[in-house]
Amino acid sequence: MEDLATETMSSEEIMKMEDKYGAHNYHPLPVVLSRGEGVFVWDVEGNKYYDFLSAYSAINQGHGHPKIIDAMVAQAQKLALTSRAFYNDCLGEYEKYVTEYFGFDKVLPMNTGAEAVETALKLVRKWGYTKKGIAENQAKIIVCENNFHGRTITIISASNDPEARDDFGPFTPGIVSIAYNDIDALAKELEDPNVAGFIVEPIQGEAGVFVPDEGYLPKALAMCREKNVLFVADEVQTGIARTGRLLACDHENVKPDILILGKAISGGVFPVSAVLANDDIMLVIKPGEHGSTFGGNPIACKVAIAALEVVKDEGLAAKAESLGQLLRDELNKIDSGIVTLVRGKGLLNAIVIKPKAGKEAWDICVALKENGMLAKPTHGDIIRFSPPLVITEEQLLDCVDIIKRTLAQFE
Ligand SMILES: *Cc1c(COP(=O)(O)O)cnc(C)c1O
Repeated sequence: MEDLATETMSSEEIMKMEDKYGAHNYHPLPVVLSRGEGVFVWDVEGNKYYDFLSAYSAINQGHGHPKIIDAMVAQAQKLALTSRAFYNDCLGEYEKYVTEYFGFDKVLPMNTGAEAVETALKLVRKWGYTKKGIAENQAKIIVCENNFHGRTITIISASNDPEARDDFGPFTPGIVSIAYNDIDALAKELEDPNVAGFIVEPIQGEAGVFVPDEGYLPKALAMCREKNVLFVADEVQTGIARTGRLLACDHENVKPDILILGKAISGGVFPVSAVLANDDIMLVIKPGEHGSTFGGNPIACKVAIAALEVVKDEGLAAKAESLGQLLRDELNKIDSGIVTLVRGKGLLNAIVIKPKAGKEAWDICVALKENGMLAKPTHGDIIRFSPPLVITEEQLLDCVDIIKRTLAQFE
């Protein structure tokens, strides 16, 4: 019998296998990981790396957090899935916990970020018809240019990224796109009485960690309130302590009407996402109108409670705030001709690269890997730096040193 045990295969062989048998919808950095602990991951050859991507901010609590893993294993051995055809003894406990944690009346549990965004968009439409009184099929939702909300057909209908859209049409109607961080553009579109909702990332993560002007979010919220339009915050990437507060909206005391969470709500060990809202919005959806076989499953519930407890127990928001400041201060001190800008909030940061002698952000990421740190370029010229929030100051300074040495190779 052919032995396909991957422990005996090299990185090269494993990458070839993925290339041959897997769809080519990703272009990963050439590293094959087999183990993770805290801020570190190891490849199959045993090389150790700092994880500076944290699975796009899903692993805020660090790899293999014992409290989260224990919760998952214990529940997996007891009861994994009931579907929502029956009650299970974990969902209510989780719903109470998560709604109190974030201060909403209700939660609707899903699995991935994209599903939670879809759920929020359906809620907005249904609310628009049944509460706001918009005529049938006329509801509009305002989105921002350069957003990233996921990959479903409706969500890419809200995207202006050609890579996400080209050859995937026709698109879902009822979506209006405006410039991000442009309060006047929002004011103009809000004049339309058919607008039911405005969906926004408090910081645009995938776009390259684009932080809007101070005051943008509270102003946008106030304007939506005035026009009876729901303000929907997609905090799938920015939420769960990543930017130095529990939610990025908390920096300016913005309380969205609908809050979308995913990624780190499970510490990255299990697909868990959530839509939170108060009763007047959430209860527009009635039995049979929306659902998910896996949404709210017992393992997800126990994992999410543990993951959210870790965030509080270990003070991860405060850590992200202070270490993020330290990281930006240190990065700004680096005198490099190839880095043109450092930006971010908390431990969600990015550097903007000016390609030099044909060397781009990708080449820098490959060199960072050789020097023991994993990061990924976005949009060709931006590198995101988002380590697990459990990183220590000493480890962070070690990473700054790796970045310095790596950038020096490109001078
Ligand atoms: C990652 C992400 C999503 C999509 O989440 P998936 O779990 O990949 O479907 C949605 N919105 C934002 C802001 C994200 O960063």
